[in-house]
Amino acid sequence: VTDWQGKRVTVAGLGVSGVPAAKVLHGLGAIVTVVNDGDDERARAQAAELEALGVTVRLGDGATLPDGTGLVVTAPGWQPDKPLFTAARAAGVEIWGDVELAWRLRRPDAAPWLCVTGTNGKTTTVRMLASILEAAGLRTAAVGNIGVSLLDAVLGDEEYDVLAVELSSYQLHWAPSLRAHSAAVLNLAPDHLDWHGSMEAYARDKGRVYEGNRVACVYNVADKATEDLVREADVEEGCRAVGFTLGTPAPSQLGVVEGILVDRAFVENRHRNAQELAEVADVHPPAPHNIANALAAAALARAFGVPPQAVRDGLRAFRPDAHRIAHVADVAGVAYVDDSKATNTHAAQASLAAYESIVWIAGGLAKGATFDELVAGSAKRLRGVVLIGADRALIREALARHAPEVPVVDLDRTDTGAMLAAVQEARRLAEPGDTVLLAPACASMDMFANYNQRGDAFAAAVRELEAGA
Ligand code: ADP
Repeated sequence: VTDWQGKRVTVAGLGVSGVPAAKVLHGLGAIVTVVNDGDDERARAQAAELEALGVTVRLGDGATLPDGTGLVVTAPGWQPDKPLFTAARAAGVEIWGDVELAWRLRRPDAAPWLCVTGTNGKTTTVRMLASILEAAGLRTAAVGNIGVSLLDAVLGDEEYDVLAVELSSYQLHWAPSLRAHSAAVLNLAPDHLDWHGSMEAYARDKGRVYEGNRVACVYNVADKATEDLVREADVEEGCRAVGFTLGTPAPSQLGVVEGILVDRAFVENRHRNAQELAEVADVHPPAPHNIANALAAAALARAFGVPPQAVRDGLRAFRPDAHRIAHVADVAGVAYVDDSKATNTHAAQASLAAYESIVWIAGGLAKGATFDELVAGSAKRLRGVVLIGADRALIREALARHAPEVPVVDLDRTDTGAMLAAVQEARRLAEPGDTVLLAPACASMDMFANYNQRGDAFAAAVRELEAGA
């Protein structure tokens, strides 16, 4: 679409993506109607703001397609089987998500996109990638699910050489024409299956990130499903499959040799068969899953032509975001670590694998997950477990099956003091040298507004212990 004048666009959903999308489309001359399921105070405030500009807003009715709609632009979280979309499809109307809209509106000479998706590690990898690109002197930003919004990055005054883009499976579902310079799928584990309907559908949406790639499709050698997605993707001629591995890399891969991150895919010097990039100690924190993230970021940067030294400098400069394996304090010889962002079992598995002897604080909303594999795989590292939150019985039962000898404190509390109680129980179970790890393997919304608040409550509780120690 180049002529927006008078085009009738329905924006599905207010909120972080809907409001800016409606404004931009209205500014382009489109006739915009926003439909929204909810009708609460926040929605009314957003509606008032848009109506003042001349945008029509229908609150409390997200199901009916307004007459004459020529295009639907949806918030990524809206499920594909909603009646609004069924009606749009029946009428032959295209449906774009926020990413598709940004992709279509980008300028002809716009910066290429290096895209990252996967079940876990997206934000970390995208931030590492942006740090590496910056170290190479490139004008860049971490965008998408994090930081600058894609629409702002694409339409704003700031000029970029390249964008580091985080994409969720929802966003990819609604981004049919996106074509990245290069892209990575970090890993694939069951998550959000209620939304996608099945693991196959979830994988298919993740795999969209490879479609039309020009230079490299980066996959995880240890996760065959990601390699399968590369094989199924329709890419530009000359686009390469590049694997990353924590082991010794084969040709066309990045990996680790004796504590050094090594590139065997993009080697400048043809007399060598490998290029050293950085040391494992340059990665923060140097936990196995995070080294995998660093390798994926390095692969995308190298695909863009970034020199090895910038990879090292960028990794050294990178610090993880809050609540991602963040060391809070040592109290009486016990380390307290906040990985509140471990909101699913695959993420919790990664952080449990990073420590030897753990008192594990877990629980919350399970989102349909099962815990047998996680518990069985981590049982030998557990000194003890403290359970909190709505679905803690599921974890307790898995512990009874796979780790019957591990002491478990089942805290039947959801009040604001529950986290302090959990940390106190954890301290009782811990011995010097242990790590008390908040890695809930669950969402936080049963007890907290979000994972940030949960992590903050943990850190505050640890500070209280520290003050009393
Ligand atoms: P995302 O943006 O995909 O949610 P984050 O980078 O915010 O990912 O990390 C979320 C959590 O996932 C971390 O707190 C950590 O527990 C876990 N994690 C990070 N990287 C990986 C990985 N490569 N594999 C498995 N788990 C990971």
